[in-house]
Amino acid sequence: MSAEILVRRGGRIEIHDVHKSFGGLEVLRGIDLTLEPGSVTAILGPSGSGKSTLLRTINYLEPLDRGIVAIDGEVIGYRRVGDVLHELPEREVLRQRTRVGMVFQSFHLFAHLTALQNVAEAPRRALGVPKADAIARARELLALVGLEEKAHAFPRQLSGGQQQRVAIARALALDPQVLLFDEPTSALDPELVEEVLAVIRGLATAGTTLVIVTHEISFARDVADRVVFMDGGVVVEEGPPSQVIDAPRHERTRSFLARVR
Ligand code: ADP
Ligand code: MG
Repeated sequence: MSAEILVRRGGRIEIHDVHKSFGGLEVLRGIDLTLEPGSVTAILGPSGSGKSTLLRTINYLEPLDRGIVAIDGEVIGYRRVGDVLHELPEREVLRQRTRVGMVFQSFHLFAHLTALQNVAEAPRRALGVPKADAIARARELLALVGLEEKAHAFPRQLSGGQQQRVAIARALALDPQVLLFDEPTSALDPELVEEVLAVIRGLATAGTTLVIVTHEISFARDVADRVVFMDGGVVVEEGPPSQVIDAPRHERTRSFLARVR
């Protein structure tokens, strides 16, 4: 089963004038980005530069102080009435959030559920998919990430790389238009990194819009259409990998790349 027929066509993400503070600390200081449907964007930047916070604003895990995020023209977290934005009720936010899958550094699998149950659970609960259908789809998605044989294993019986692949299958189970990865290989032993990157590489050609925060520079160069370098809550520079990674224009980008390579 190839990824092309298992994933949904990607959405366009518009991020406009996004600001976010925690207490007195302004973590996002005016972010503007448009990510085209089916594109692959790698976000690079030092620790604390606001990368995770930016990802979390895309599915409204962080309400914004200013600005908007829209997916295919639908503003996330708000309903537009004329020129005024009204905050959506929780139930509507949850519905919007099913369009955006997220994969975290630390897997976040349910320890008491098998791999198959982890993948089948969300479509049953969030979308009301019948059990047999959710299970059949979960099997296809486990096959896509190379884990058919591990369907009945519990997370503690899986390696970190296998757990992360289950987490990717689980994120795909809701049929998202957008997949967000927050340092998906940072918690893995070095020998397990490649199996997870290989799965993401497969998804990159399948048409879902991907946004990947990563410190894997050569991976970013290979898979990303576009690289965004953030520092101090702003986008310092962005462009194709051949520009941002191989010929950075800003000193801050150059010194960051020198440190992580
Ligand atoms: P990155 O992912 O680039 O390392 P983050 O977006 O996680 O950066 O964090 C940016 C800054 O915001 C950091 O200084 C962090 O401590 C702070 N921060 C993030 N989330 C919260 C929060 N919920 N409450 C307070 N401060 C936060
Ligand atoms: Mg982070």
